[in-house]
Amino acid sequence: MKLYDTLSGKKKMLRKTKDTINLYVCGPTVYDYAHIGHARTYVVFDMLVKYLRARGHKVFYLQNITDVEDKILNRAREEQKEPKDVARFYENTYHEDMKALGVTSVDKHARASDYIKEIIKQIELLVEKEYAYQTDNGVYFRVRKFPRYGALSHQKLSELRTGVNIEEDALKEDPLDFVLWKAAKPGEPTWKSPWGEGRPGWHIEDTALAQKEFGSPKYELHGGARDLIFPHHEAEIAQMEAAYGVHPMVKTWLHTGFLQIRGEKMAKSLKNFITIRKILETYSVQTLRVLFTTRHYRSPIEYSEIQLSEAQAVERRIGEFWSRLRNVKPKLKTDRQYPKFIAAFWKELEDDFNTPAAFAHLFTLISYVNPKITAGALAARDARAMMEFLKEVNAIFGVVDEHRLAEPEQLPSQVVHLLREREALRADKKWNQADLLRQEIEELGYELNDTDSGTSIKRKPRQ
Ligand code: AMP
Repeated sequence: MKLYDTLSGKKKMLRKTKDTINLYVCGPTVYDYAHIGHARTYVVFDMLVKYLRARGHKVFYLQNITDVEDKILNRAREEQKEPKDVARFYENTYHEDMKALGVTSVDKHARASDYIKEIIKQIELLVEKEYAYQTDNGVYFRVRKFPRYGALSHQKLSELRTGVNIEEDALKEDPLDFVLWKAAKPGEPTWKSPWGEGRPGWHIEDTALAQKEFGSPKYELHGGARDLIFPHHEAEIAQMEAAYGVHPMVKTWLHTGFLQIRGEKMAKSLKNFITIRKILETYSVQTLRVLFTTRHYRSPIEYSEIQLSEAQAVERRIGEFWSRLRNVKPKLKTDRQYPKFIAAFWKELEDDFNTPAAFAHLFTLISYVNPKITAGALAARDARAMMEFLKEVNAIFGVVDEHRLAEPEQLPSQVVHLLREREALRADKKWNQADLLRQEIEELGYELNDTDSGTSIKRKPRQ
């Protein structure tokens, strides 16, 4: 399959080999409940990994948990708690939320605080190679010594912006330099190091952890949302490539678009967020997953109630179609058209995981097949093949709750006969006569719903 790489700005081929593909996705900083912006990024990577595995790739999916960071310390101070307790509490809520979202593909979650030894070793390497230097405040990476710094965010080193998430410190050689090790401050968790007591900077945890868990400084895929391109992922490249003399550290850099609210990125720091647990009180996990699937993973999604109710309608449409397929009985000749829609669905995913284009083919399939079901003209064998397809799709995307699909219903033969007759009249645009048949069917206790993709029927609820 092809995947868009942020560094080269091109789609790169991901070939199937016997080797395991290592994927690293930046995990959360655990100081608050996860919001639906996080849900977007983590659900997208969950879908991608499930897709790759379904296609026969072996994937090792690693995610870090940032449990040592300024934001956690601030939160602990506000709540008068130990930073470790704050971090563990929100790490647990994160796992609960991911479970609720059906994110089950991560092989290993690794806490930064469990990798202090590896972090120190990596900083030592950087100091040894003079890519890093010590001040009274800690250890810094010497950015201008690494000419490729800026390549990922397509900025020239000479034009780089300072002050964007980069620590201000008068003792640094250059304002662009970023911190690898922070000297201890009173009341903060610290560890012993060759540079005195202190704690790691944010960027170094990912490279130390990846090197240790993958057993190599080079690997296949690295992901996160777009906000991480600069400076976080830029700094990761500098650290790993400088420490081990490798290039490129990662073959393909994957970045998801933001989930936005009123045109702004949803973010904990902007306090414009809706937590995952809050949204799941009102909407199903399947609705959320539909919302994420019907947009390309690199595009932004604007959050709104309208978008969610549209996603709900899509979820219902796929579920109803699936239920109807379970009612098909006749032994008819198999149809030659529908496999084309299924093939087109998979083909779109091979091209940079184009889920909206793939799902457009699924909707075409539904529109094509629904009238055939109504007219009793779908072969049972075709229905079975389509259900297999839906099962495969759902195992990756989780857009329908399979346990809640309507039970296959036996329609009385009289109703089936009337339905077919009505369908023929509608095809001839004989609307008045078709309406009379609708009345007859309704009097027998059934409800009809005519949509663009055909007519669905269900038993009227008992009074
Ligand atoms: P954080 O906990 O803020 O470090 O974020 C964890 C992950 O979620 C990172 O990959 C972020 O880039 C991603 N993320 C945070 N906010 C959003 C958002 N509004 N939309 C999409 N992804 C996000």
